[in-house]
Amino acid sequence: MKVAIIGAGAAGCFCAVTLKQMNPSIEVTVFERAVRPMAKLSITGGGRCNLTNTFLNISHLQQAYPRGWRLMQRLFRRFSPEDTCRWWEREGVELVTQEDQCIFPRSQDAGQVVRTLSRLMHESGVKLITGSHITELPQGYDAFVITTGGSPRLSPLILSLPEATTASFTVSPVPSLFALNIDDASLQSLMGITIDDVRVSIAGTKFQAEGTLLITHFGMSGPVILRLSSYAARHLHELQYKVTLSINWMQGENEDAVRASLQNYLQSNRLIANHHPQHLTERHWMMLLHRANIPETCRWDKVNRKELNRLVSILTADTYVVTGRRTHKTEFVTCGGVALQSVHPDTLALRALPNVYLAGEVLDIDGITGGFNLQAAWTTGWIVAQSISQRAAEPLS
Ligand SMILES: Cc1cc2nc3c(=O)[nH]c(=O)nc-3n(C[C@H](O)[C@H](O)[C@H](O)COP(=O)(O)OP(=O)(O)OC[C@H]3O[C@@H](n4cnc5c(N)ncnc54)[C@H](O)[C@@H]3O)c2cc1C
Repeated sequence: MKVAIIGAGAAGCFCAVTLKQMNPSIEVTVFERAVRPMAKLSITGGGRCNLTNTFLNISHLQQAYPRGWRLMQRLFRRFSPEDTCRWWEREGVELVTQEDQCIFPRSQDAGQVVRTLSRLMHESGVKLITGSHITELPQGYDAFVITTGGSPRLSPLILSLPEATTASFTVSPVPSLFALNIDDASLQSLMGITIDDVRVSIAGTKFQAEGTLLITHFGMSGPVILRLSSYAARHLHELQYKVTLSINWMQGENEDAVRASLQNYLQSNRLIANHHPQHLTERHWMMLLHRANIPETCRWDKVNRKELNRLVSILTADTYVVTGRRTHKTEFVTCGGVALQSVHPDTLALRALPNVYLAGEVLDIDGITGGFNLQAAWTTGWIVAQSISQRAAEPLS
């Protein structure tokens, strides 16, 4: 059996290697348009490669995979994050788990992950053809695996498939995992600071995320913003990234709870500048007072009703106008791609073309940051390898 894999990224190379491990007699050729394989994999996780996650902080898979969680749940029964860790450790890549449950190579080197896959491809006889941009399925193969990754536009290869004319075959690709541009002078005093336990939502919608916020020179970033950008990827795209963010600085407490917790402060005659909720830093508190238009020299027992209302509102629903999305230097994945109903959920073969399989980000599966996107590439790559190897073992009819 001859198999052509198109795209030598994480999913394509992992699929090639595991397919050879399952059935060494299958001839595997990987086509890659770039001059070298796995260029993106080598820069993942800031060059450290966050290759998976323990999922211990994920109570429902939809939190990790806003798109594709049902399919991932099904596929994890066959190749789980634990299987992934065992696979890499067996191949000599020792792993470490960070406190935030992200898993990296102990070497902290994405290069080790790339070199391991390259060596295994070479040793098992996978043929790699680089500098080869495939625009339609090549001739002379029995099965094809499309692992061309995410892209802001559907590739000519996908569009060359006969089904591509069907509206439901693909879901239009839009970006996910990006920082937000916010032009607000009051943020300048906090530039470079990270703030934990922040709840960020998009005003007027149900989209919200919790976590650490990073204030930057252009606006806001950090895990909480990347997560929100993932949950709301399509909504943000539709509104051309012009939305209002609402920020709760009080660890998600609502107005009533915050009002109640400020009662003690209101009875003291201490300077408002020096006496504030403990989890807020002095610099942050000053900025919030400024936004609430309360002088730093004011004493708590002199805060009037209007000032208190403004302060509670700033603490629980502080609003910022987003002017656009940051287009570089953040992790970036594609929301959208080949629709999941176009593939068979057990084999990942196209329903209409059963010898064409898909794996990785080309599918309409994408996750938040934390190793979830690579995990999707490993799992879908492995599932396709198993589907093909089982098919090769079937007697010819
Ligand atoms: C900067 C950055 C950092 C990231 N860090 C992490 C991280 O730490 N952890 C994590 O889980 N995820 C991370 N991600 C996301 C993760 O890298 C991707 O989700 C993952 O690489 C997808 O794997 P893939 O094989 O589907 O696609 P890719 O890795 O993008 O590979 C697709 C390959 O196909 C080739 N190709 C495309 N079209 C054709 C064609 N027509 N013919 C031939 N070849 C073609 C491309 O050149 C490419 O080599 C990061 C993403 C970015 C951009």
